[in-house]
Amino acid sequence: MNHAPEVSADVDLDRPQWVKSIPFLLVHAVALAAPFLVPPTWRLAGLALAVYSACMFGITAGFHRYFSHRAFRTSRAFQLVLALLGTLSVQKGVLWWAAHHRDHHRYSDGEKDVHSPVQRGFWWSHVGWILSARHDRTRADRVKDLARYPELVFLDRFGMLVPAVFALALLAAGGLPALLWGFFVPVVVAWHVTFSINSVAHVLGSRRYPTADDSRNNPILALLTFGEGWHNNHHFYASTANQGWFWWELDLSYLALRALSAAGLVWDLRTPPPHVRAGRLPAPIRSEKDRTAGGEVGVEHAL
Ligand SMILES: [Zn+2]
Ligand SMILES: [Zn+2]
Repeated sequence: MNHAPEVSADVDLDRPQWVKSIPFLLVHAVALAAPFLVPPTWRLAGLALAVYSACMFGITAGFHRYFSHRAFRTSRAFQLVLALLGTLSVQKGVLWWAAHHRDHHRYSDGEKDVHSPVQRGFWWSHVGWILSARHDRTRADRVKDLARYPELVFLDRFGMLVPAVFALALLAAGGLPALLWGFFVPVVVAWHVTFSINSVAHVLGSRRYPTADDSRNNPILALLTFGEGWHNNHHFYASTANQGWFWWELDLSYLALRALSAAGLVWDLRTPPPHVRAGRLPAPIRSEKDRTAGGEVGVEHAL
């Protein structure tokens, strides 16, 4: 993990780095070719759905709600399980992910937002910021609480070991069909579904709460992302283990967390107080000027 330099005005940092992105593009090519190389069967579709579910739970409950927002508590051992599941999704390291996500909330849809479609366009918010070199490094000061754990620092640095071992195990167990449908297809789908929260969920959907950003609640995205599509709720009050706040707002990750809580593996699941759900926050929502000066909306409840 490195300290990133202060924000640079160098526009070259914003251009897609095609050489660096070759593995990312190749994984896409393999996933797109998968149905032609090995036509899907019910069994392979089930495998893809199972791995997709593991990836999505790892990202939403793990990288997002636990590591970025500390929305519930767990043991050090289960914390590692969450980190491993998130790392399986090949979305860089857990510290990198949490640091950038905390910055997204700090500056959401402001000038310094890492991936705002309002500021920099849809393409940038969806995937341009990942292809570029601007956000390769992790700001250590954003994730001091996570950097205390050597196992998380190790996973952040050598996280590719996890999907590599998983892919090899699939290949050994089920050959090319298992590798394609148990790894390449679900990982690429999980990528774009996750990226859609950064892009689509700031453009398409309804706004229940008057947040200072353009976050939206989008039921289709909520289904695909296991609950993250209730993104306007989330930007209004970020530190909750549930993002669907009403009975009709399906949140599969929260249902899974409730089950894990009943089993004693996680505890202290934070939920929004009634006055928050009713749209009243203790402090007025800060202005754009305050936010870009370093104030935080929502994250301060979590850290
Ligand atoms: Zn957002
Ligand atoms: Zn968040």
